[in-house]
Amino acid sequence: VKEIVDVFKQKGIRATPQRLEVYKVLQNQSGHLPVEAIYEKIKDKLPGLSLATVYSILELFRDKKLAGEVWIKSDKVCFESRPDIHHHFYCRACGKISDLDIPGCAALTSKEVAGNLIEDLQGYFYGVCFKCRSGKK
Ligand SMILES: [Zn+2]
Ligand SMILES: [Zn+2]
Repeated sequence: VKEIVDVFKQKGIRATPQRLEVYKVLQNQSGHLPVEAIYEKIKDKLPGLSLATVYSILELFRDKKLAGEVWIKSDKVCFESRPDIHHHFYCRACGKISDLDIPGCAALTSKEVAGNLIEDLQGYFYGVCFKCRSGKK
């Protein structure tokens, strides 16, 4: 926990119990979690916590580059511990979201294109993942 407090301090974030728990959930998993799932994991530990609070904490983390926000499923926003620019793949068979690292795409970031300032870049790819293709679940 001491290390997390230090990370927060570097980013100018005050360490509250709620923020610490949300951050721990993100660090302890490698995938992409819907906001509701993060809330479910910690709500028993933090009485009075609301889903809206979890969401605003995650938005703060995203703005401070402590987390990434993923919109691949239009009805369900997910968050992950990786704040760096990368793309995502959604398997329509099993519903799993995975990272897709495509070299070169990241070079486009923080540029101005036709007067538009690019602040974020995320490619969403849809299909069938390698596990489902090989028949394994
Ligand atoms: Zn799959
Ligand atoms: Zn990702």
